Amino acid sequence: MRAVKNIFTINTLKNLSFFQRNFYTSGEKKAAEGRGPLCDENRIFQNLYGQHDWRLRGALKRGDWFKTKEILQKDPEWVINELKAAHLRGRGGAGFPTAVKLSFMRLATDESIPKFLIVNVDEGEPGTCKDREILRHEPHKVIEGCLILGRVVGARTAFVFIRGNFYNEACNLSYAIAEAYENKLIGKNACGAGYDFNVHVHRCAGNYIRGEETALIDCLEGQGGKPHPKAIFNFEKGVYGYPTLLLNNETVAIIPTIIRRGGRWFAGLGRPFNTGTKLFCISGHVNNPCTVEEEMSVPLKEMIERHAGGVRGGWDNLLAIIPGGSSTAILTKDACENVLMDYDSLAKSQSALGTGGIIVFDKSADIVEGLARFVHFYKNESCTQCTPCQEGLRYLHQTMQSILKGKAKPDDIDKMLKLASNMRAATMCALADSSAHALMGFLQKFRPFVEAKIKK
Ligand code: SF4
Repeated sequence: MRAVKNIFTINTLKNLSFFQRNFYTSGEKKAAEGRGPLCDENRIFQNLYGQHDWRLRGALKRGDWFKTKEILQKDPEWVINELKAAHLRGRGGAGFPTAVKLSFMRLATDESIPKFLIVNVDEGEPGTCKDREILRHEPHKVIEGCLILGRVVGARTAFVFIRGNFYNEACNLSYAIAEAYENKLIGKNACGAGYDFNVHVHRCAGNYIRGEETALIDCLEGQGGKPHPKAIFNFEKGVYGYPTLLLNNETVAIIPTIIRRGGRWFAGLGRPFNTGTKLFCISGHVNNPCTVEEEMSVPLKEMIERHAGGVRGGWDNLLAIIPGGSSTAILTKDACENVLMDYDSLAKSQSALGTGGIIVFDKSADIVEGLARFVHFYKNESCTQCTPCQEGLRYLHQTMQSILKGKAKPDDIDKMLKLASNMRAATMCALADSSAHALMGFLQKFRPFVEAKIKK
């Protein structure tokens, strides 16, 4: 660390603060003007739709790898403080403060112990398709993010853990990694900053539950990839028994831009503790399904009307929305009127921001069939280690199928609610818990629809 401080020059500081000042003022101005569409200047992902070159040449034009050497030569605490100022929360679903995770990793001070970084791209939540866009069109952001984070926590190796089905995405990332090695951006003496760093791509077979962190680490180690009880934190003992930092792909990809433009710029977008921009995926009964980067805390209604061309048949034709991927609780039309797309507003509405995967149902939807599909999905994805999950989801799936076939009894709804309630907090990982929670929300809010199906 002392060596890093010594090679850090005044010029570097001046250049970085100048760079930050330029962009910070624009962020402040934007916040002061009130909420409008996210302006291009504040967009982190400038090539989300792949209109430009995703390779190194294009990435450099968009500002990736700009002054990375100087960032690497800074005190890691400075980087952590920027992320603290940014109030960055993880983009994978839980919303844990990223700076806190990094600080935990820095508790392991023994430099002789290897540390690892894992980027989670096992994107499999129904309604979510953001991480694949990042790998397809902005892979250099992920590689640069890995390098900066690796330097901050003292990791020399990063694994990008990719869902097996993402073949094109893994190809683009591998190509970008090869470019980064060739241009000495990673590898020995990465960016000329005196830090050795390697990035590996790990493709898994493609299974929803592998996104769970203990299963992911298990899979990476070649041990089958099932969740297991966790007695110790990853920052103490993670992959191969060594301290490990595990972050979502979007979180890693946005870090270089936050560091370059400054934590205060990022915090100037959104609202307190729900800051910055986020990728949202809008699907279902809208006129223009899309993945889009928007400012955090944008009203859900505005988001759908602005980017997805509105609900099919107009807002009054809306029935319900799942706001953050299929494991988050569904919202009725009334709840959708004023809710903001951020961690706190959605938690207040008894749902969650999750992955930002917005699924829209209009009044033509058979919402009970939609629920049955989700239950089917979770039943298939259960790793079957825990009885409440395996048997509970099997029973819920069978009951949902009986409802669809008109063979269920009226008291089946209460039986499902009771069973789902008993499945919560009774299993090793969150799959059973979150699917039970989502199902209960569905049954409670749309009970008349289910009853009508039973009576048919
Ligand atoms: Fe496997 Fe389900 Fe238990 Fe998770 S809750 S470990 S998916 S059986």
